[in-house]
Amino acid sequence: MYNQKMEQMITTQLMARGIRDERVLNAMRKVPRHEFVVAGKEEYAYADAALPVGHGQTISQPFMVALMTQALQLQGNEKVLEIGTGTGYQTAILAELAKTVYTVEKVSQLSQEAQVRLEQLGYDNVRFLIGDGTKGWPDNAPYDAIIVTAGGPLVPPSLYDQLAMGGRMVIPAGERKFQDLLLVSKTEDGKEVINLGKCGFVPLLGEEGWED
Ligand code: SAH
Repeated sequence: MYNQKMEQMITTQLMARGIRDERVLNAMRKVPRHEFVVAGKEEYAYADAALPVGHGQTISQPFMVALMTQALQLQGNEKVLEIGTGTGYQTAILAELAKTVYTVEKVSQLSQEAQVRLEQLGYDNVRFLIGDGTKGWPDNAPYDAIIVTAGGPLVPPSLYDQLAMGGRMVIPAGERKFQDLLLVSKTEDGKEVINLGKCGFVPLLGEEGWED
């Protein structure tokens, strides 16, 4: 029933805008986005937009999910840290492409709902934590890749610390409403930052983010 809408999303929103990684495109074909939106809003699941999911939060626009995931260049063996579980949609995409996903969410209800949803969909390589993700999840560090799906004023130092040497982090940073999507790499020569363009995420609230 949703196959056609999904394929249209892949072609017109992702491929047409330069998403070329076949693994990313296939993951986005596989994860049923309509299972992640608020009940009754399924018809908008494949629209070219972020959608409200309650608690003042949103499920990110499909293109943004694809762009951020592609930037991480996952091969399948990685340990990934995600900050901002939200609905768990981005989490599921990561779970398709990496070995293990550690995901942190500050709103307990969102985390619990995402956990149930991902279990029902059969994902067994995701670990959940409720708390302030600006501090990361030190117990399992270092991570080969880190993705932050809320926007903070800067790259939280704790997250950079928990990135493995040679690892990549994708994170929106800048002002409260609009940010730059940054691709941060940890190299032997230090921190390398590439700006992937403008974006607008909900605020990253916490000790190394915006004040709650
Ligand atoms: N990736 C999600 C969209 C997340 S919206 C999806 O695909 O559905 C951003 C999420 O970040 C919200 O759920 C918000 O509660 C959460 N968030 C904001 N600040 C946070 C913090 N410091 N630690 C963990 N989660 C945070």
